[in-house]
Amino acid sequence: MDHEMPRPDPHVLIFPFPVQGHVSCMLKLAELLCLAGLHVTFLNSDYIHRRLLRYTDVFSRFTPYKGFNFETIFDGLPADHPRSGDRVTDIFDSIEAVIKPQFREMLISGRLSDSRPPVTCIIADGIMCSFTTDVARELGIQILSFRTVSASCFWAFFCMPKLIHACELPFKGEDDDLDRSLSSVTGMESFLRLRDLPSFCRETNLAHRGLQLVMSETQKATRADGLILNTFEDLEESALTHIRKHIPKLYTIGPLHANLKARITKTDSSQFRRSSNSLWEEDRSCMAWLDDQSPRSVLYVSFGSMTVLTKDELIEFWYGIVNSGKPFLWVIRPNSVVGECQVPTTLLTGTKERGYMVGWAPQEEVLAHPAVGGFLTHSGWNSTLESIVVGVPMICWPYYADQQVNSRLVGEVWKLGLDMKDTCDRVIVEKMIKDLMEVRRDGFVQSVSQMAKLARKSVSEGGSSYDNLDRLVEDIKSMSHV
Ligand code: UDP
Repeated sequence: MDHEMPRPDPHVLIFPFPVQGHVSCMLKLAELLCLAGLHVTFLNSDYIHRRLLRYTDVFSRFTPYKGFNFETIFDGLPADHPRSGDRVTDIFDSIEAVIKPQFREMLISGRLSDSRPPVTCIIADGIMCSFTTDVARELGIQILSFRTVSASCFWAFFCMPKLIHACELPFKGEDDDLDRSLSSVTGMESFLRLRDLPSFCRETNLAHRGLQLVMSETQKATRADGLILNTFEDLEESALTHIRKHIPKLYTIGPLHANLKARITKTDSSQFRRSSNSLWEEDRSCMAWLDDQSPRSVLYVSFGSMTVLTKDELIEFWYGIVNSGKPFLWVIRPNSVVGECQVPTTLLTGTKERGYMVGWAPQEEVLAHPAVGGFLTHSGWNSTLESIVVGVPMICWPYYADQQVNSRLVGEVWKLGLDMKDTCDRVIVEKMIKDLMEVRRDGFVQSVSQMAKLARKSVSEGGSSYDNLDRLVEDIKSMSHV
């Protein structure tokens, strides 16, 4: 007779880096795992959790999943801390000092399995790979790393030691040529320039905190039991091939928002629901404004949840957008512009005539609206995927981190739009908008529509992301607590 102990029910702990873009797509992963019948605990910072409860229906949305629970952890920052891109190192500091010890204590205490099966798998944000892997190893729990960046960007991060070894990094300062080509990121030699590396690669000091952190956390992805990426095979085949040589257990399950939508529709085709994970209040009045605009006429402008603009940048963009003559919907997040600014009357008049401004928009719905014909974006990875899925061409103005790489791919490799990095001069902004939405419009629409088809195919039954998600679920089921 077989006396083997039965395996505990699979229970996944999902732990995102506490900012909008990371929380949002990891919540989508959480819902996908719930739909597959797994127990899921989602670990939020208390700050993020409060905002989600305040501005979304996340609680009622997850209530039907009996195996789902939220847990919270104190993020160590004062309530009024902006948690924006210009202060992101504060978040990393508090993770090190405050979150890291709490995370270990939470797992060691067994608190998460009081009324649930023990945690059998951790899916941790790959930007916090080191300490989460240490804890997982200590407790004999399997761990998968989830990176919210593109595969190409992950690969560029992964190659940073090679870039340094080949003296392509560090940046040599003012005299360096940002357009010099780089040859140490295998597969990207034909298009990657110094300018396209993540913003912190423009530091002359290799000891720079951001550079060291991203480099070491990325290298440590090889210590986890697998890597999950929010991308699809047809989009990033080359980078994925290179990553697989180092991390064979790779699950490409993106675009996650489309994967989730496809699965929900499959489970219940009558089910239509909005699923917002916004940390700000969505101003839905812009949808009615969009309803009054002509098809593909509107430029949607949003720089995501972390970007901070100077007042000079704001004014340059504003002139460029107004002077383009196109109708525009512009998200200006509260506190996202530094300093007071006097707005010239011509801009206010132009905005009144053709523009609509909101503090936060239901972006997925906005991009899917037939009136939207172009997206001026900071090239955050979620925004990029959201634009691709609905076939909207982009103008890219990357702010930091992975965005410099993404914008190069959009402009030079996939030809889904224009890369405007490192300038927001009003004349260039105006010209790029006209190029995107008039002069070269048909070409961009054609290429982005083709990519949209591939994205949707990947999440349909039999598609690569669809199958990889099933494989991920099966692998999680087979993991057992030691
Ligand atoms: N977003 C939104 N409304 C807005 C602006 C952004 O819902 O007005 C969402 C957007 O759909 C995306 C996320 O916020 O899912 C931003 O993530 P991304 O990776 O693009 O950039 P980040 O904010 O992390 O820089």
